[in-house]
Amino acid sequence: MEKPLPSAGKLWLVGAGPGDPDLLTLRAARLLASADLVVHDGLVGEGVLALIPPHVERISVAKQRSRHTMKQELINELIVRETQAGKQVVRLKGGDPFIFGRGGEELDAARAAGVAVEVVPGITAAAGCAAQAGLPLTHREDASAVSFVAGQCKDLTDQDWSGLAGHGRTLVIYMGLATASAIADKLIADGVSPALPVAVVERGTTRDARVLRTLLTDLGDLVVREKVASPALIIVGKVAARADALDCLGAPGVVHSLKDIACES
Ligand code: SAH
Repeated sequence: MEKPLPSAGKLWLVGAGPGDPDLLTLRAARLLASADLVVHDGLVGEGVLALIPPHVERISVAKQRSRHTMKQELINELIVRETQAGKQVVRLKGGDPFIFGRGGEELDAARAAGVAVEVVPGITAAAGCAAQAGLPLTHREDASAVSFVAGQCKDLTDQDWSGLAGHGRTLVIYMGLATASAIADKLIADGVSPALPVAVVERGTTRDARVLRTLLTDLGDLVVREKVASPALIIVGKVAARADALDCLGAPGVVHSLKDIACES
């Protein structure tokens, strides 16, 4: 009797969206239900993890800033090895796999190893957080360009953000909480107005979300004063004045400044 061929494994790089399980794509939900193994990040929300059936094997490779529990190369090796063993492997990542998610490296590793791989997009934090805050990232009157940048400490000074924030533009900063003050200084030194509105969205799309608003000059202080916790996104630009949010600048007059900015145009 012929031996059955080993089943072909496949790797799926899947975006889990920004937290709320209702914001998963239908494809992501279907794959979670049919996978043999789910390898997920710390950023993936509890509600999303709850959709993984109990019989599906699950491995967490949660990372924290400056404290990696599993190095990227080891994650690459793990997902390739498990796929080569014939499993349907879902690599589940917060937001979208290709926006600051190192999905590109995992795709390269899979291709280099010759394993079948497919990418499933997710709602990135910028889109999810902006929607929750009622903050249009682009607006006919306020912004016709939007940029996403990473604000981590290690390469902040090397990054050229000139021209990304200011008139007619929205700048969205991922991973910028620890460096919020340096980010504000960097932008202001580049010529961005200290009075530009800023919104900070903490745990966007979840039940515990907070949306805070201030002016660029107060960004660093706001983060400390309000004890903003990770994950949080910083949105800089005139559109931030449109957010349904708490106005948080300690200095008098901020509410008026923000309202004036929102009403101009
Ligand atoms: N691939 C993800 C981003 C990973 S980088 C995506 O597409 O969204 C991690 C950063 O994303 C966090 O430091 C934070 O800035 C942002 N982030 C992710 N989820 C968030 C959420 N629910 N609320 C606010 N910011 C979030």
